[in-house]
Amino acid sequence: MPDQSSAALPRHDHYIGGERVAPSSGDYFVSVNPATALPLYTAARGNADDVRRAVADARTTFEDPRWRDLSQTKRGHLLRRLGDLIAENAEELARMESTDNGKLLREMRGQLATLPEYYRYYAGLADKIEGAVIPTSDRRVLNYTMREPLGVVGAITPWNSPLTLTTSKVAPALCVGNTVVIKPSEYTSAAILRLAELVVEAGFPPGAVNVVTGYGAEAGQALVDHPDLAKISFTGSTATGSRIAAATASRFVGSTLELGGKSPNIVFEDANVANAAMGVVAGIFAAAGQTCIAGSRVFAHRSVYDELLERVAARAQSIRIGDPLHDETELGPLAFETQRDKVAQYVDLGREEGARVLTGGRATDGGLGGYFYEPTILVDVDNDMRVVREEIFGPVLAIMPFDSEEEVLRLANDTEYGLAAGVWTTNLARAHRMAARLEAGTVWVNTYRAMSPMSPRQGFKASGVGIEHGTETIKEYTRLKSVWVNTSEDAVADPFVMRS
Ligand code: NDP
Repeated sequence: MPDQSSAALPRHDHYIGGERVAPSSGDYFVSVNPATALPLYTAARGNADDVRRAVADARTTFEDPRWRDLSQTKRGHLLRRLGDLIAENAEELARMESTDNGKLLREMRGQLATLPEYYRYYAGLADKIEGAVIPTSDRRVLNYTMREPLGVVGAITPWNSPLTLTTSKVAPALCVGNTVVIKPSEYTSAAILRLAELVVEAGFPPGAVNVVTGYGAEAGQALVDHPDLAKISFTGSTATGSRIAAATASRFVGSTLELGGKSPNIVFEDANVANAAMGVVAGIFAAAGQTCIAGSRVFAHRSVYDELLERVAARAQSIRIGDPLHDETELGPLAFETQRDKVAQYVDLGREEGARVLTGGRATDGGLGGYFYEPTILVDVDNDMRVVREEIFGPVLAIMPFDSEEEVLRLANDTEYGLAAGVWTTNLARAHRMAARLEAGTVWVNTYRAMSPMSPRQGFKASGVGIEHGTETIKEYTRLKSVWVNTSEDAVADPFVMRS
């Protein structure tokens, strides 16, 4: 939305071909600090013309021999340099993201300490991407495969962990020689624009990574619909992911989709309940519950239910709400006003459905005028209620007792989602049994939210398609070519049976 009163705010243009580029419409929208509800900056409101320009630049760079023919080793050097630059600029990036989406600065500092490792991981992988020689029935015929980049990759990313979730796409895409156009969430443009500058500073060609800011329905949709796009990599809601998958599939364009979740966190009677309580708190109240992997459904064995509830409720009640930039703060705001309102509406819905609010259950301005919501625990709930089935994306935990392993497996798997699951037990056999039978792409045993660039992750069911992180994701950003070479110069005897 263009806003005359925003003239004094810092202004961010798109980043295309290594330059800041004003929006073709001349329109900007306002980004707000959710901790204070005060405007932070304005960003370019991208449209189809801006997207066309960015994709054209990315395509030109993709075909430029200086990028196309760069050795894999040199691509690795560039990625390593980018990782180093991110480390050097970590504090600036952490503060940018923290003021943009309200995440705790100390959590962002932690994320920024790890972020360079993503680039270094793919730097190390760059010169280890190999094809294979395939045995055929005729030894005179050589058949080999090679992995090729796809072309221009569109990366559409959300507001909850912009830098990390964008990196999960950009690092492997660049590692194999693609170029990228990013459409960040309208709520978190600043750090992504800075990241794109660092890409060029690291020595990548201008045009290797471009950013078109703006609204999903405008810039995002235009990117999805662009005919020159080789792939879309998306992280966000299941509803938007489903629309993107349908639009791209009709043009035979691939998509990697990392979507929503309603992950179960299961505490057995033999668990270390004190540790499990910490895992439950981390699973739902860290990042104010705004993570796709939030452990928003907790199942506790009836024999430890009261103890777990007491511990989790005590910790939830003592959570320090406040300025995300302060070190002692434990819970920042929701990322924007409508997200806070959505959380409040869900808790009201829970009350109507018969849930009891054990703790929390109120919106607050955190003393700063921002969009905060108290850490909330819902009890007297069952797995059929909407608050237990739908992704809330806020600090709202539903906790339920169970009696047997079979019962909890059935309840845990009774969801449209399949992103992650937690299991708390000291029984080794049970831990592995549960890991095998839970329908989730990631299973944590006696921990929660652990993540690494080295470890592949995939959403099952409505939680996604395709793999992010690890070596597996390379396949998402390459196509496989099979080359057949006849090394014999013998005369071809019969063209109708020319086979190997
Ligand atoms: P969306 O899925 O709508 O947004 C994610 C990204 O997609 C944003 O960059 C958004 O842009 C863009 N987008 C939106 N519509 C389109 C479109 N038609 N074509 C192309 N791109 C589009 O999520 P929301 O931000 O609206 O959040 C809603 C819910 O999604 C949350 O409450 C949560 O449940 C879930 N979510 C899950 C995430 C995860 O990590 N799995 C991350 C974020 C949200 P813009 O922001 O400008 O609309």
